[in-house]
Amino acid sequence: MGQVSTLPESEGRREACGVFGIYAPGRSVAPVVVDGLHALQHRGQESAGMAVSDGQAMVVMKDMGLVSQVFNDYKIAGLVGHLAIGHTRYSTTGSSSWHNAQPMYRNAGGSEFAVAHNGNLTNVEELAGAIGMLPGTATSDSDLMAELVGRELAMSDGQEDQGALVGALMRVLPQLQGAFSLVLADRDCLVGVRDPNGFRPLCLGRLDDGWVLASETPALDIAGAHFVREVEPGELLVIGDAGCESHRPWPPAKVQPKLCIFEFVYLARPDSRLYGQELHAARVRMGEQLAEQSPTSADMVVGVPDSGIPAAEGYSRKSGVPFGHGLVKNRYIGRTFIDPEPGKRALGVRRKLNPLREAIAGRRLVVVDDSIVRGTTTRAIVAMLREAGAKEVHLRISSPPYRWPCYFGVDTGTRSELIAADLEVGEICDYVGADSLAYLSLDALKKATGVAGAGFCDACLTGEYPVPVPLRQLRSTPEQPAREEPSGTTGDRPVPAPAAQ
Ligand code: SF4
Repeated sequence: MGQVSTLPESEGRREACGVFGIYAPGRSVAPVVVDGLHALQHRGQESAGMAVSDGQAMVVMKDMGLVSQVFNDYKIAGLVGHLAIGHTRYSTTGSSSWHNAQPMYRNAGGSEFAVAHNGNLTNVEELAGAIGMLPGTATSDSDLMAELVGRELAMSDGQEDQGALVGALMRVLPQLQGAFSLVLADRDCLVGVRDPNGFRPLCLGRLDDGWVLASETPALDIAGAHFVREVEPGELLVIGDAGCESHRPWPPAKVQPKLCIFEFVYLARPDSRLYGQELHAARVRMGEQLAEQSPTSADMVVGVPDSGIPAAEGYSRKSGVPFGHGLVKNRYIGRTFIDPEPGKRALGVRRKLNPLREAIAGRRLVVVDDSIVRGTTTRAIVAMLREAGAKEVHLRISSPPYRWPCYFGVDTGTRSELIAADLEVGEICDYVGADSLAYLSLDALKKATGVAGAGFCDACLTGEYPVPVPLRQLRSTPEQPAREEPSGTTGDRPVPAPAAQ
């Protein structure tokens, strides 16, 4: 067996953020924003916020915590306006602090605007240097983006707010690299932007009296909007009195769709639709593909709640091995209660998951999960199942080995923290303590999406990054330098940390 990192896991990965925007003249939209953010809570649970405009002024409210902790009826009643954007955050660059909660707000020479960002910029140092910002002055890539737009806006003296914000964006956006699905608002208009690769989703919905933008389609449903279409990679939408206008800040050659394939695997809600596909059905097909590729003799197929369940259903359907529930999830344990200390990590898993002993005891189990990132949570789950009496535990993973860090809005840590970066499948199997382990192939995963020919980012599986990524990122600190060596760059091969105990 090789070596793996002992760095904190917190379930091994951190989700992207959720963004929401609404323009509905004549209505007070703050309650709708709160509903929309509830529908996007799974994308970020560190902080939530909203910026509202009544056409005269903009008010921003944001705080640390869940949507239900940040907003109550009293606060919502004070947020009056027909135009608003909202955000749920998980920090991928910048610390988890109030200052980095979104939306980010600027008042540039009297022109107010707010921006909410899902994704990660990859050229932060270059952008900050170009405007003379000292390293570390911007507290996050989103803060830097707001600063860039604000400076451009301040220079567009004398224009109307709507024209000025869009003009500033048309100049700033082509300078940005990386992943950014954005919603912005000034006093008069709502703006939606998707980067030229469309790493993160963003969709457009129609109300009887207005428009909605959201990271995922269930947020349209809850707002009472019907789905119009996905915002296209490389598109900027301006929504205001004149309706919905489409702009293209990038030349066509720069536009190359690369939707994050992990939105299909686990990031987005199962009832979301991407590339025209409902994700629950796609995840069931991933399980079917997995059963075809990696069959085994067993008595029951169990999914790791929640995101492993649909693939477990598919595995069962294709293999004929009965599906059953073997693990129960405590839905009231937040991430705050997952202790990051390695010695206590198994306790964190036990707080969140509990085995159904009668269902498990004496049985040979196929256990289906969506991914293994650092391995320690999987190892704790396997140990828990064995303690509950499982006779055999055969792990089946509905995605390929996760070998490279993500720079586009999912924080899985550095390469040395990824168990599959240095270990072969057999070594990982030994480490997690399973009887067998198999991953879904990349081809089969793409086939299961139902849109195999669509553009996907799969850089964390292949090391082939669609855009250049620097070796040093904002999240790297002097004590913990970036040590990745993605394709197309140079750097030292990471030295794995000692094995976790
Ligand atoms: S690197 Fe992986 S997690 Fe990140 S955007 Fe690409 S596919 Fe998604």
